[in-house]
Order: sequence, then structure tokens, then C-alpha cells
Amino acid sequence: MTSDDDIHKLKDNAVWKGKLTPDQYRVMREKGTEKPFTGEYYHSNEVGTYVCAACGNELFTSETKFDSGTGWPSFTDPANRSHVELREDQSHGMVRTEVVCGKCGAHLGHVFDDGPGASGKRYCINSVCLDLKKADEKKP
Ligand code: FE
Repeated sequence: MTSDDDIHKLKDNAVWKGKLTPDQYRVMREKGTEKPFTGEYYHSNEVGTYVCAACGNELFTSETKFDSGTGWPSFTDPANRSHVELREDQSHGMVRTEVVCGKCGAHLGHVFDDGPGASGKRYCINSVCLDLKKADEKKP
């Protein structure tokens, strides 16, 4: 369990480095992108809730997950709109909308306007930023 104190400390890169794997650090703190079709969850059909791998914030549920064919886990909606933060990202010569964990500020991925659901959104998220809490697992 991550306490609020720990989450506050997560704003400090040194603390992140000790807590995250090198791959997680590169994506979540340095806004990297994992290679498509390599992550743990892009093809997952498990039922459950995807939480932030750094702080446990509930980000997405399997109900809104779909196969986008991109090689990254894709969702039509966040679990709760207040659990993610959207920011304009002008890196790499593009204007995109970055998706950030609303609790600890980790970079998660980007959101695009070509989703299949009512929202019209495609949240394209790096697997490495997520932990799946399966629905059949007992809550702690
Ligand atoms: Fe987080």
C-alpha cells in the first residue's frame, strides 16, 4: 500500500528510481514509450481494474478495453475522469494529448480522437505503467 506521504515523495526522481524498474522509470518519468506488441497487457482479456504501477491509482477497467491493433493497451474511457490528467504535449513535432496519473503524475500514454466507443476516445497506454487487479482476486 502506498501512503499519501509516499506519493508525495514520488515527485522526487530519486525516490522514483528506487521504486520503479528501469523500463517503468523511462516511460513513467521520462515520457518514454514501450515497444508495441511487447507489453504485458495489450492482448489481455482479463476482467479487472488497471491501476497505476507506481501509486495504485485506479486508472482503467477491462470493461472499456478494446483491441486497437496498435500493440498497446487501449481504452475508450478512464475508470474515473478525475483519476487521470490530460496535458497538451508538443514533443516530437506533433500536438498530442498526454495522459498522466492524476495522483502521482506519472506519464501513462496519450489519448486520441479515433476511439470506437461513445466517447470517441482511444486512450493508448503503456503496459509497463499498469498493474492489473483481477476481479476474482480478493481485495486486501
Ligand atoms: Fe500514479
